[in-house]
Amino acid sequence: AADPGSPYRVVLLGASGVGKTAFASIFAGAADSMDSDDCELCGDEVCEKEIEVDGEPVTITLLDTWDAEPDNEWAQERYMQTGDAYLLLYSITDRTSFLRASELRISLRRFHPAHHTPIILVGNKCDLVRRREVSVSEGRACAAVFDCKFIETSAAMQHNVWQAFHGIVRQLRLRRDSK
Ligand code: GDP
Repeated sequence: AADPGSPYRVVLLGASGVGKTAFASIFAGAADSMDSDDCELCGDEVCEKEIEVDGEPVTITLLDTWDAEPDNEWAQERYMQTGDAYLLLYSITDRTSFLRASELRISLRRFHPAHHTPIILVGNKCDLVRRREVSVSEGRACAAVFDCKFIETSAAMQHNVWQAFHGIVRQLRLRRDSK
């Protein structure tokens, strides 16, 4: 088998309640993981495991510690610098979380001034159609402004969550291959 290489650190970012924990548990409980005990480093907030994307193995360390220290600016700033890539979540049912995602995107740019850090803007909870406050086109437009990819997901329905993880791996590989 191909060597999955050193782990990529993928960081979950976003306001409280948008679905970061739900994303992390889907990742940790991956049905498509290669064997059941490959999640050596799985805790509440960090999970490391090997997955396969486009037929090639890859090791991902997923971090979900954003909400752990809400008032610790230093910890948050450090957290924003630790990732190789970011999933920036908001809830389509919560406009405030969408605005928060924009703020976080701006902060990320400060910590990653070069433009090659993969970021995907993720509009989660797309199953809650009748509670939608942020349209698909707003999400897409925001991603275009901030020069990142965009996807709508439903962690509750397990819809597009793996597509988001796979998308981030593809971007990391493109970056790696262009070096
Ligand atoms: P976090 O604070 O960002 O970690 O958010 P959580 O993952 O704890 O989710 C907050 C709440 O939203 C929980 O009650 C989840 O069950 C719920 N939730 C998360 N993702 C979805 C989703 O895609 N659809 C729906 N309907 N609920 C969701």
